[in-house]
Formats: sequence, C-alpha cells, structure tokens
Amino acid sequence: MPPIANERSVLAHSLLADTANPGPPRPALSGAVRAETVGWGASGRNGGQVNPGLKDGPAALARRFGADLGGRMTQLSGAGGALVYGLIEKHKIRCDARRVGWIRAAHTRKALASLPAVAAEWRATGAPVVDLDAAESQRLLGTPGHVGGIIDRRGGNLYPLNYTLGLADAAERAGARLHGDSRVTDLGPDGDLVAVTTAEGRVTARHVLICTNADTGGLADPLGKTVVPIASVQVATAPLSSNVAASILPEGHAPSDTRRLPARTLKGASSSAAVRSTVTAYRLLDRLGV
Ligand SMILES: Cc1cc2nc3c(=O)[nH]c(=O)nc-3n(C[C@H](O)[C@H](O)[C@H](O)COP(=O)(O)OP(=O)(O)OC[C@H]3O[C@@H](n4cnc5c(N)ncnc54)[C@H](O)[C@@H]3O)c2cc1C
Repeated sequence: MPPIANERSVLAHSLLADTANPGPPRPALSGAVRAETVGWGASGRNGGQVNPGLKDGPAALARRFGADLGGRMTQLSGAGGALVYGLIEKHKIRCDARRVGWIRAAHTRKALASLPAVAAEWRATGAPVVDLDAAESQRLLGTPGHVGGIIDRRGGNLYPLNYTLGLADAAERAGARLHGDSRVTDLGPDGDLVAVTTAEGRVTARHVLICTNADTGGLADPLGKTVVPIASVQVATAPLSSNVAASILPEGHAPSDTRRLPARTLKGASSSAAVRSTVTAYRLLDRLGV
C-alpha cells in the first residue's frame, strides 16, 4: 500500500466498538482517511452542548413518524448523553465534561407553555427531565431574562475538540489506524472491492463508510446535495472578572433558549448567496439587534 500522510488511528473504529447496538454483525474497519486532521470538522468546533433527544419531544416524534420509528428515535436520541459521558469515563478523556444537565429556558410565557408537556413526556419514559420555575432558571442562568424552563439532567457540556481528540486516542490505543491530511478525491469499484483514491495514494477496501457530513462536496454524488449549508455564528466575550463569572451560569450550564430568529432571516441565512462570510452573518445579526 502506498504511504499516506500523517498516519493515525481510526476514530470510527472506537465508536463502533463502544456504541454498537445489538444487530447484524458489522464489518471490521481497517483504516480511515480524513481530509484534514482529527477534529477539523464540526466535531472539533461545535458548541459542546450534550443535548439528549431531538427538537421534538417523544409525543411529537410518535405522531410524525409512527409509534415504532418515533419510539426508536426517542430511545436512541435520549440515550445520547449516556453514550457520550460513558465514552468519556471509559476512555478517561479530559475534555472539561460537565454533566450538569441541559437547560431549555423560555424567554416568554407563551414560549414556556409547551415545555412542561415535553418534560412530562420524557419523564414517562423514565428520563430525569424536570420543570424549572422562574427563580431557579434565573439563578442558574444568571439573568432575569427568562420566565422558566426545563432541565434534562442526562445532558451537559464538554470541550468538543478535546473530546474528539480523546476518542481518536482511544481508537489508536485499540489498534485502529487513521490517515489525516488525505482528502479522498475519488471512490470507485475495483473488482469486488472499493478503491479509495487520495492525492498521494490509493487503497482498496471491502467496505467504505462515508462520514464526510457537511463537507461531502462532490464525493459520492448526489450525497453532498442532501446537505443544506447554513451560516452559523458564535460569539465570545472577553474573559469575565471572577465576580461576574460567578454570577453567570454559576453551575456551568450551556443552556439553550426559546428565542428564534425571524423565519425570513433563517431563510436568508440558509442561502450561501446571502451569507457568504462570517462578516455578512454578523452584519445580519447586528441589523436585527441580536
Ligand atoms: C457551529 C456548530 C455548532 C454545533 N454545536 C453543537 C452542539 O453544541 N452539540 C451537538 O451535539 N452538536 C453540535 N453541532 C453538530 C455537530 O458538531 C455535528 O453534528 C457533528 O460534529 C458531526 O460529526 P461528523 O463526524 O458527522 O462530521 P465532522 O466532524 O464534520 O467530520 C467530517 C469529516 O469528514 C472529513 N472529510 C470531508 N470530505 C472528505 C474527503 N473527501 N476525504 C476525506 N475526509 C473528508 C472532514 O475532514 C471531517 O473531518 C454543531 C455544529 C456546528 C457546525
């Protein structure tokens, strides 16, 4: 096999070993190629929130997808926090993990109205999701701007790049191999195998998993077209003084709130023509006073 730059272990191998649900046997992975280095993608630079469940609660999922599929979506997504924190503990990943719960805070009484029902639906499945009154949500968030909310104690937050690197290290220790800086430029059949071509080499495999997510581009067309690009903006303050830091998010939560940008803006933001750069996105937010 020709050499490929920056050989390291496979992230996906560890995930398979640790998360495999009972089901049909899965093929062993012998290696993975990544376009950049471990953690370069969304996994290394996301918000670090560990949010169990999906946007819709269990009842809405059952209504929309039927009792069977909706139930399985509830079960799988609800178990996400346990999976993440279990991996962190098992592999001793140092990523500032805090299982303090995920707060969904309501900014108006109207927005608050639907949250207790979602919490009750989760409780009916055995999940520790409870209501927060105005005083408690204001204490945990350190702002008077919310009228209540719910907290899902299965969730929390972590430092995403270190989590991703920790998984890669765990995979490496398990004997997996990862090749960074090796963008796949072509995939195609080679007899009974699949040939994977990069700028520097070519490998064949019995099975190939395409885990390129939003960065898929033209590889394995039309897969990339199933992803809709949206611009995302994150803002950081200057370091806070200790007395201010102690009053804001005193228990280290990474909350979400019920505010939404107007639909028109979301539509605009989802168009790559409308938001070509972070600067443009900031200008949009500025105009809205966000
Ligand atoms: C700004 C932001 C904030 C987010 N916040 C949160 C959050 O708080 N909580 C949460 O749970 N989720 C969050 N997410 C979502 C989460 O980060 C993603 O769902 C998750 O990281 C996707 O993981 P992935 O492995 O599928 O993709 P990625 O981590 O993006 O990995 C895809 C990989 O494919 C590689 N690749 C692409 N093309 C090729 C090619 N041709 N050849 C070889 N390799 C290739 C890339 O190099 C990359 O490493 C956020 C996402 C973003 C963008």
